Amino acid sequence: MLLNDYEKAVEIIKNSKKCIAFTGAGISVQSGIPPFRGKGGIWNKYDPKILDIDYFLENPKESWRKIKKIFYRYINKAEPNSAHFFLSKLEKKGFLKTVITQNIDGLHQKAGSINVIEFHGTAQKAVCMNCFEKYDISKISLDELPPICPKCWGLLKPDFVFFKEQIPKYALEQSLKHAQEADCVIIIGTSGEIMPASQIPVIAKQNNAKIIEINTEKTKYTETLSDILLKEKASLAGEKFLKYFE
Ligand code: ZN
Repeated sequence: MLLNDYEKAVEIIKNSKKCIAFTGAGISVQSGIPPFRGKGGIWNKYDPKILDIDYFLENPKESWRKIKKIFYRYINKAEPNSAHFFLSKLEKKGFLKTVITQNIDGLHQKAGSINVIEFHGTAQKAVCMNCFEKYDISKISLDELPPICPKCWGLLKPDFVFFKEQIPKYALEQSLKHAQEADCVIIIGTSGEIMPASQIPVIAKQNNAKIIEINTEKTKYTETLSDILLKEKASLAGEKFLKYFE
């Protein structure tokens, strides 16, 4: 019997011992979250300098005003889609060790995923630039900008990685470890343009992992790494996959 690409992917996932997922903006587009780049992207409308750490520190009020508009208008209203639910289901069934996401929207957790590495941090928290205390964003008023640390009056910044900032050490170390140990990587909604995150599937492939790619277009992973490309919107692919894991 000939297997279609979904069935082949399901076989790989079910036979793997350590499968991980690597996700990007494309998984959240159908949840109503615009990507940064490309058609309808945030950077077509706004100047990326507001997320440049130096610019932010010098112009916190203006930067926050735009950040609030871009990230905090929709992010708490957004709901996970079938692709997020597919991954949380895989984890519950014991087929997925962890999700490594480049997204800051918290939708994997909202879908029920437990082991999530947020490579670029999260918009769900704010961090004080003075005492480094972290706060749930829902506990912080954004009526007056910029928001100030209730403990030390320092400037608060969204707890995601700005341009020229380092990737959180924990995320980097854990991602590297998972990438080295994985025997299967499910890539969803990322074309691998952003370093160093883009290296995660590359490292896994060097250690002979099978690569399943779900993207609407061919990417640079397709030719060099992917064993299977499912050319599909993330949510639709998630819906199809869910049927195999009921
Ligand atoms: Zn503080």
